[in-house]
Amino acid sequence: MTERVFNFSAGPAVLPETVLKRAQRDFFALPGVGSSVLEIGHRGEAFAGILHDAETRLRSLLSIPDDYHVLFLQGGSRLQFSMVPMNLLRDTGDSSDYLLSGSWGVKAYKEAVREGTVRVAWTGKETNFDRIPAQHQLEINQNARYFHFTSNETIQGVQFTDEPESNDVPLVCDASSDLLSRPIPINRYGLIYACAQKNVGPAGVTVVILHDEVLERCARSLPGYLSYREHVQNKSLFNTPPTFAIYMISLVTGWLLDDIGDLETMAGINREKAGILYQAIDQSDGFYQGHARPDCRSTMNVTFRLNNPQLEKTFIEQATNERLCHLGGHRSVGGIRASIYNAMPLEGVVALRDFMINFLDRHG
Ligand code: PMP
Repeated sequence: MTERVFNFSAGPAVLPETVLKRAQRDFFALPGVGSSVLEIGHRGEAFAGILHDAETRLRSLLSIPDDYHVLFLQGGSRLQFSMVPMNLLRDTGDSSDYLLSGSWGVKAYKEAVREGTVRVAWTGKETNFDRIPAQHQLEINQNARYFHFTSNETIQGVQFTDEPESNDVPLVCDASSDLLSRPIPINRYGLIYACAQKNVGPAGVTVVILHDEVLERCARSLPGYLSYREHVQNKSLFNTPPTFAIYMISLVTGWLLDDIGDLETMAGINREKAGILYQAIDQSDGFYQGHARPDCRSTMNVTFRLNNPQLEKTFIEQATNERLCHLGGHRSVGGIRASIYNAMPLEGVVALRDFMINFLDRHG
């Protein structure tokens, strides 16, 4: 099969078609360079231009102030689960606070515990991670080294609409599944990280944005690759970076700027797409049951079950036959998950909505 399907995968996920076509051309020979983008050295002029484009476009889209550093690292968000506490908590004698709104927050917490004392500022476990806390439910230790939260829980499909208030405690955010899906006030954050394979680019590169003051508080004695200081000093060229993945970020951010315009516009499109699917859930008389509480619903990962769970396999099979693919929920929770990141076209969401209504007519 060479024809493209509507790909609802949670990540690695759908990329914009214009980006794929451009990459296809440059895969063979970069214009003016005569080598594949895969074949050029990371310290040469051509790659310097690519790295510069990726960073300046990210800075422009997210309005990243000058006193923030932007890094392109490897090891995925999982390595950030460790690097954050290694750099900011290890051997300090202090503690840090974690908010557990879903599976990824829990995984981040478990890695931090290896490095020092960690408090849970809130957990959604009792209600099966179906919600985001209200500000008054948070107990943030004002002496914590940092406060960690997950802006969008990819598995449960719950998302923060605003940053939690942590006062003077640096806010650290795993934004893996919603970075670049909407504008965010970067100056509210101490550090943000996001693996690229949802909205930002392909797997293999992780974006880290950190404030200068946070950098100043980072450990000085870590092994090179694990040290934010080392990466900042070397401007993401401490070792050979994932050149192709960074090149793809330069294209995806270029697409956002040229074809979409800005993140406000992107956020509007994302709200519209999500609204279409949540409406289909809400108007199904309980045939489809959303996992997240309505006020905490994610615009990126729409998670739901069928009131008859035995029909879920049939739902996924029949959807796949209609070229609506990768709708199975995460292996840990089951059910259905439609991931509708930036690059999922509106037509894909409309096709899924129509399928859902049809399926309900046939099986409801
Ligand atoms: N955090 C979140 C919110 C995620 O969605 C993911 C990946 N699905 C991760 C962390 C882990 O990312 P990686 O596999 O790149 O380490």
